[in-house]
Amino acid sequence: TIGWALVGASTIADEWMVDAIRTQRDGIVKAVVSASAQRAREFADKHSIERTSTALESVLADSSIDAVYISSTNEKHLPQVIAAAAAGKHILCEKPLALSQPDAEKMIEACAAAGVVLATNHHLRCAATHRRLRELIRAGEIGTPLYARVFHAVSLPPHLRGWRIDRKDAGGGVVLDISVHDADTLRFVLDAEPVEVMAMSASSGMAQAGLADGVMGIIRFDNGVLAQIHDAFTVPYAPTGLEVHGTAGSLIARDVMTQRAAGEIELRSERGVQAIDVDHRNLYVTAVEQFHRAVSAGEAPAATGEDGFRSLATALALEQSAERGERVAVTRQF
Ligand code: NDP
Repeated sequence: TIGWALVGASTIADEWMVDAIRTQRDGIVKAVVSASAQRAREFADKHSIERTSTALESVLADSSIDAVYISSTNEKHLPQVIAAAAAGKHILCEKPLALSQPDAEKMIEACAAAGVVLATNHHLRCAATHRRLRELIRAGEIGTPLYARVFHAVSLPPHLRGWRIDRKDAGGGVVLDISVHDADTLRFVLDAEPVEVMAMSASSGMAQAGLADGVMGIIRFDNGVLAQIHDAFTVPYAPTGLEVHGTAGSLIARDVMTQRAAGEIELRSERGVQAIDVDHRNLYVTAVEQFHRAVSAGEAPAATGEDGFRSLATALALEQSAERGERVAVTRQF
């Protein structure tokens, strides 16, 4: 079995991750850690979790805990990952992995030194739709990919309009929240790495303190693909989607930039329009399943620490580009 501690009494843990861990044959949720004793207790009562704590160190000292799921606000990811690695725990950390590239690098190095798995919870690459898109592109179904477009402008649910819209120190703003997912999904689907970006952002009234609640950007990949992204917190009625256009075909995926196991894919080519079969499956269950295999069989998790680093690097470059009005190179150390 793999004993888990949840670090953060968060919405994502509540809505998706407790179930995703418990769906595994060998997954046990042993403890929840929160800065607030009351929040930890409420969370534990709701999910029937035995142990609650406000002291991460004491939970990390528990030898029955093998892994931690870190879903605190983003500025806490660094110290919590470093502490968990030092205690020899395997780590599934939420995105953005950190708030800066040097911080993300420290986390990767600490986990490597401790010999523990570090995974980033970029769930979208676990979607059956995105996996199918990657396979079809690899199989040459659209020829050489030239362009991609990501439609990820959504309405931030009212219960999430907290730190995301007013706390820069916690990594608020649409780019670190949503664009980082686009970057990771495009890297995965295209099997390519971002080279440079340009972006313009908007603050349409929802985000405060100079944070952006909308962004449009362009990412150039090392295989020559140009990708367009559109992300927002303020758009209630737009469908989400991802398109990849190549020399011999176009893949059009609708309703795929989502937490739900949903969406459709269409392949357009000289053969006409073809609906692609997708075997939908809960994204978070797939992520935890791959994490368990990483811990028990030494396989790679769905998204590694390095993936978290690279997708973060792209998001930070988008933020810088929007701020400076310039194109920004995406630097890669890994
Ligand atoms: P929440 O705001 O729900 O939780 C984040 C932290 O805020 C919690 O750890 C908790 O701190 C604190 N908190 C929760 N409720 C309250 C409250 N009522 N009053 C004061 N503080 C509270 O964030 P999310 O679950 O939306 O996001 C958490 C992390 O997960 C982020 O890194 C985010 O980017 C990521 N995320 C990833 C998703 C994915 O699909 N991969 C989807 C959504 C989020 P404490 O731990 O001290 O109790």
